[in-house]
Amino acid sequence: MQITGVGVVIAGMLPRVAFAARNALRSIRTGVQPGGKTRIVIETSSRPSYTLVYGENTLTIKLSNTPADNSITAKLASGTLVKSVSQAQVGDALNIIAELRKPVAEIPKNQIMILEPNGDNDYRLVLDFTAASATTKAAATTTNNSSESTAKKHIIVLDAGHGGKDPGCIGKGGTKEKTVVLSVAKKLRTALRDAGFTVYMTRGDDTYLKLADRAAIAEKKKADLFLSIHANANPSRSVKGFSIYTLSEKASDEEAQKLADAENAADKIDVDGFESFSKDIRVALSALQQHAVAEMSEEYANGCARAFNRAGIEQQAGPAVRHAPLAVLRSTVPGALIECGHLSNAAEEKLLKTSSHQDKLVAAIVKSVKNYDFEV
Ligand SMILES: [Zn+2]
Repeated sequence: MQITGVGVVIAGMLPRVAFAARNALRSIRTGVQPGGKTRIVIETSSRPSYTLVYGENTLTIKLSNTPADNSITAKLASGTLVKSVSQAQVGDALNIIAELRKPVAEIPKNQIMILEPNGDNDYRLVLDFTAASATTKAAATTTNNSSESTAKKHIIVLDAGHGGKDPGCIGKGGTKEKTVVLSVAKKLRTALRDAGFTVYMTRGDDTYLKLADRAAIAEKKKADLFLSIHANANPSRSVKGFSIYTLSEKASDEEAQKLADAENAADKIDVDGFESFSKDIRVALSALQQHAVAEMSEEYANGCARAFNRAGIEQQAGPAVRHAPLAVLRSTVPGALIECGHLSNAAEEKLLKTSSHQDKLVAAIVKSVKNYDFEV
């Protein structure tokens, strides 16, 4: 599934005549999603190219190359933020104006989807949103799927793995994963703040935190990106290098499954957690959102691996980006778990402790975050 509208991009590459056919509006409807989110669905005959404009108490969805169709009345569900919906033709574009009960914040990329036709449905542009809090109110700003246009401060939640009674893995020289990754995460916090991001950490000291709580912090802070920082261990002490993991229900290989077992085991220190948590998240996440989050996480992880490669950081043999059922990544926030290197390898244990190598890791991660496409 493509979550961005590619119409605009394609228009630049193909002869104009290919776009003589105009898009047609099919239907407009609203609904309530889990968590009380308002959903707007706009169905069109072909893939929509859209721009979102946020007003004081309006959300305008501009569809390019689409005529107004006043035979179509929006089907409005009760209990949403949408009071009424009207259409206005502005040049070639159709403005669909939703009058809102409360202002909304800029809708995050992972809450905007374009669905392919299936069954009785044509293309659908799906927007999920909640009312803006005082700090996130995005009055009179514009976002679209064709260009960068906002100066929004993106929110990154950094998760230093393990902590407190859970040391993570321990190198032969006694280096604890929880200590190394906290040091990297703190440096990363400073560097990302310097680069203009808003940064929160799940832990800023040697505290034990359950995996569910880490993911919950990312949700609560409405993070745009969640990065869990770890260091690895392998029974074979010759194994070394970084690897990056994204969430999937099935592990990409046996090693990825072992890693998930090891990282998820942190929660077995406490009895409760994983089961109930994963059920909650299953309820909170629609399948569509899961798909969008997975795609964005994959995009980030690939970019991060490229940044590590370019920085000359040793990569573990095999694929740089792997997939595993990691509890800490179960949320609506795109993200990745970065295994910075192997503490079980003597040379890398030494390296991971040095400030200069930590700086190198941090610089590569900052580059990957800067290059990540936060906007639709
Ligand atoms: Zn770990």
